[in-house]
Amino acid sequence: MKHLPIFLNLQNSDCLIIGGGDIALRKIKILLRAQANVTCISIESCKGIHKLANDGRIKLYERAYANDDIQKQTLVIASTDKKDLNKEIADLCKTKSIPVNVVDSAELSTFLIPAIIDRSPIQIAVSSEGASPVLMRLLRAKLESSIPGAYGQLAKIAGEFRDRVKSTFDNIEDRRRFWERVFSGPISEKIFSGNVDEARTDLEEELRNTSPADIGEVYLVGGGPGDPDLLTFKALRLMQQADIVLYDRLVSPQVMDLVRRDAELVFVGKERDNHAVPQEDINQLLVDLAKQGRRVCRLKGGDPFIFGRGGEEIETLAENGVPFQVVPGITAASGCSTYSGIPLTHRDYSQSCRFVTGHLKDGTMNLPWSELAVEQQTIVFYMALVGAKHLSEQLIKHGMRVDMPVALIEKGTTDRQKVYTTNLKELPDIIDNNDIKPPTLIFVGEVVKLREKLNWFN
Ligand code: SAH
Repeated sequence: MKHLPIFLNLQNSDCLIIGGGDIALRKIKILLRAQANVTCISIESCKGIHKLANDGRIKLYERAYANDDIQKQTLVIASTDKKDLNKEIADLCKTKSIPVNVVDSAELSTFLIPAIIDRSPIQIAVSSEGASPVLMRLLRAKLESSIPGAYGQLAKIAGEFRDRVKSTFDNIEDRRRFWERVFSGPISEKIFSGNVDEARTDLEEELRNTSPADIGEVYLVGGGPGDPDLLTFKALRLMQQADIVLYDRLVSPQVMDLVRRDAELVFVGKERDNHAVPQEDINQLLVDLAKQGRRVCRLKGGDPFIFGRGGEEIETLAENGVPFQVVPGITAASGCSTYSGIPLTHRDYSQSCRFVTGHLKDGTMNLPWSELAVEQQTIVFYMALVGAKHLSEQLIKHGMRVDMPVALIEKGTTDRQKVYTTNLKELPDIIDNNDIKPPTLIFVGEVVKLREKLNWFN
């Protein structure tokens, strides 16, 4: 960065423009928007400049520039068509420490005029440090169309309430939470749809009824299987809004990178001694943090309601009257299916699919094996690495073909994804002979064969 963007108060300040063409006119108009006192010196000047002078909005001197024109102005813009003259003006301004802009010459200028998106009182300034003003104008057009005009209105109303909000909450965190809630909730929506008076009344009400202690909330967010591009917009928004994030080992580092920079991060996947933080402790921690008024993001791999114990976590929240929202995520079966070219269903090979946990309880998997050991079905085993031998034996014992295709998908959707294809009989050997690590899913079904044709990822 070679230029620091700052916003200069030019109200009633003297500004001088030397030059009278169309570009000078554009700069004059910007200065007038900032309520500056504008003087223009130029031997000749365009119609627009004449009109501004005739209307009494600027002072115009139609004569040659002289060095003593530069006195104590707040800023000067050189916009003549003579390079040498522009340089002379710039040099003189520099000796007098007056900020100077030379049109079309970032090198000679000490300040640049950005492309501006005006949503008063919000000003958005865009600059490429002189590299490409045209590209900046295109970017401005994009921003113009994506930022609702009513943002200015929203900022105005926030400005009206600023002092009162400050005196209601003496803590900066509480104030931030209050405003974030207003800006991402129905009050803002009302302003965007033009109901400004109603929004103002609602804001009054909100301010009266809010006490700092009762604004905590928990977001139970599905972080997907690993690839950060698979997050939902809502997940991302809440991850950016939370002030504390509880995450476990299934959440990929790339997803964690998208959490708000200054949020506190708490790893609850495993403790130092390698045991998981007991579920009841996590449930209670969520309640405690929310009761302190914090916005807590409980970030989980995949979908929180698929083998994620998300149900238990929000049950405790509900019992304790803590507000919460749940955001679905792409579950591992779905992510691994698409990223390995193995459709979960297919008209020719599989009319249903089942997600099953292969988690061993007391050394056994308490599963309805005869329902699983059927044709035309896809079974996806979660948490099945340890129990893979057992599931292979059980499915064969209950009548499934030994050559039923099987795939193991390790770290699916990430750049470290690995896929092993085998069959039911050879599944235990594959596990014995390869260093396959969790998280891994096991797919069982004819659809596995389609990978040969449909794989696109790795
Ligand atoms: N709630 C999660 C599942 C949690 S259970 C979801 O919806 O995806 C944990 C199991 O999910 C792991 O043991 C593994 O079998 C599977 N899993 C999660 N992420 C995975 C990934 N990226 N690749 C392969 N398997 C994954």
